[in-house]
Amino acid sequence: MRRIVGGNWKMNGTARSTEAFMAAMTAAGSTDQRADVVVFPPFTLMHLASSKAPAWVEIGGQDIFWEPKGAYTGEISAAMLLDAGAAWFLAGHSERRHVLGETDAVVRRKLEAGLAAGLKGILCVGELLGEREAGRTETVVRGQVESGLSGLHATPENLVIAYEPVWAIGTGLTATPGEAGRMHSLIRGWVEGIAGEAFASSLRIQYGGSVSPSNACELMSTPSVDGALVGGASLDPGSFMAIVGSAG
Ligand code: PEP
Repeated sequence: MRRIVGGNWKMNGTARSTEAFMAAMTAAGSTDQRADVVVFPPFTLMHLASSKAPAWVEIGGQDIFWEPKGAYTGEISAAMLLDAGAAWFLAGHSERRHVLGETDAVVRRKLEAGLAAGLKGILCVGELLGEREAGRTETVVRGQVESGLSGLHATPENLVIAYEPVWAIGTGLTATPGEAGRMHSLIRGWVEGIAGEAFASSLRIQYGGSVSPSNACELMSTPSVDGALVGGASLDPGSFMAIVGSAG
């Protein structure tokens, strides 16, 4: 399965750092990357990023709103993401869920809107530390997967799941390859129950949570781990390229 590596810049970056990042991608990369590579800049930098990115780097929005246009101050529609050069969007990143209060229902509306507009979506799922400690990881993640996917019009080409245990995001802690592989297999099984075997076996499931050049290779060699969603380490082009290289 072709892997997918995403770089989520979160609320970081300037025009200058974006130009430097894309210049480094252009200098370091080649067009025969064996993984799909997607960079998620803040909205203000998307147009610049897409105009400077080499052809093998796609651009995505970190979030999306479900209405096409109108009186929704501060929101960005799927059509606006497309207009800014995006091909992808994130739905349900843990910071949207737990800092900005997005519910499963909100995540679902965003997912539907983005896919219907022709974007490709990454549904982020994952448990909080307290949920993990309470033995609720499977219940929580299964609920997020079912809410996101049940009855959704999607294909394995336009949908990816990112399993991102929240306790591992930005903390320097990572799930062990064994833990990640086990959760990815469970997720694939739940997806099979929702969308069938053919869909589940082709669906790419990324791992996210403190992925770095030193752990990326081992994580992405784990069965059922089909790529990585990278936050902090995607800000540095050298680190990000090293992780992309681990996917090949
Ligand atoms: C993320 O933002 O999705 C993420 C996984 O962040 P980090 O790699 O910094 O943990």
